[in-house]
Amino acid sequence: MKINLLDLDAQGLAELFAELGERPFRARQVLRWLHQAGETNFARMTDLSKGLRERLAASALIEAPNCVSQPRAQDGTRKWLLSVGRGNAIETVFIPEENRGTLCISSQAGCALECAFCATGRQGFNRNLSTAEIVGQLWWAVRVLSSEPQHARLGEDGVPRPVSNVVMMGMGEPLANFDNVVRAMRIMLDDHAYGLSRRRLTLSTSGIVPAIDRLREECPVALAISLHAPNDALRDALVPINRKYPLRQLLAACQRYVDASLGVEIAGAKWQRKGAPRDFVTFEYIMLDGVNDSAQHALDLVALTRDVPCKFNLIPFNSFPGSGFVRSPDSRVRAFREILLGAGRVATVRKTRGDDIDGACGQLAGRVQDRRTRRPGRALRRERLLSGEQL
Ligand code: SAH
Ligand code: SF4
Repeated sequence: MKINLLDLDAQGLAELFAELGERPFRARQVLRWLHQAGETNFARMTDLSKGLRERLAASALIEAPNCVSQPRAQDGTRKWLLSVGRGNAIETVFIPEENRGTLCISSQAGCALECAFCATGRQGFNRNLSTAEIVGQLWWAVRVLSSEPQHARLGEDGVPRPVSNVVMMGMGEPLANFDNVVRAMRIMLDDHAYGLSRRRLTLSTSGIVPAIDRLREECPVALAISLHAPNDALRDALVPINRKYPLRQLLAACQRYVDASLGVEIAGAKWQRKGAPRDFVTFEYIMLDGVNDSAQHALDLVALTRDVPCKFNLIPFNSFPGSGFVRSPDSRVRAFREILLGAGRVATVRKTRGDDIDGACGQLAGRVQDRRTRRPGRALRRERLLSGEQL
């Protein structure tokens, strides 16, 4: 079977060229062709010898996911629905702002973690995306946006970049697809590919603790944690992975992550020489009417996170048919934020974008065929929450 070159980071390409008897710098050349020039035809890679181009064409291919549709929202948000085979499709969202362009990337078709309020979790899990399918989303967006002058934007290094920031906040749990996600992120960070800085690449996780530690050592980037509740009982119900990795363990992992960025020595952490990501974690907190949005919840949140350098991002719940939850009223979101600010914390409210194309957080549903047997527990949990049971 031919190898898809979009599955390989610099190290993988170097190994491939070593096997082909070529010098390692070929890896850098080919990375530039693949990701900066967007070239899919070996014959046009003119600085490679004809013989090498022919050998590559015989053993490799360049295959990004196919685009099925690309709706535009009225506020300029764009969405790409990309086919990942067997009737499944994943979604990628681009959010243009004045001084940055953020791409929200998916890591799995569906998600197995079943958070109560999430459209992706509602569909169940189909499969992990390959590295090519993950980085292929950025590949697609850059191809399309580069031809549109309104997205011309200079990166920190003076190189034009329509996508200045990437967030791993689309469909799926990125840390449950660790190897493919890390390989894709290494390509995003590579100067010969997309040249993103570690601070402009954010991974959001629902809290798989051992994988947070691995990320810290293998590919530290800005970290966002989907916290959503200030105590274990409520978090167990909203974010079921909490039963396996409860808050105490999760917050300790956050602390280790931040310590590492501050230069606190961690045995074997090779990346420390390469520059640190941010010196705080972002706690995402979805605002669900009557569930987790009271003044007491805010006070508990302040107490819970006292020792972790962090910022809060309050996310108004984005509804989808049959979600069973309601967005907190703006006044309650404001009151909640005031309590955090009053305690000396940094707290922002996420603007909801792309509503008219279902492009907002948690609304990404793509087209996923659930391969897993459904369990009844989820409906029960939601009922308990909605019945006003205080957690
Ligand atoms: N699986 C990862 C990343 C994808 S979800 C995670 O859970 O962090 C990205 C963010 O969207 C998470 O903070 C998630 O909790 C939030 N989210 C999920 N459903 C949502 C909804 N319906 N409205 C608003 N935010 C939602
Ligand atoms: Fe999965 Fe994240 Fe949705 Fe939870 S919020 S079900 S972890 S995608």
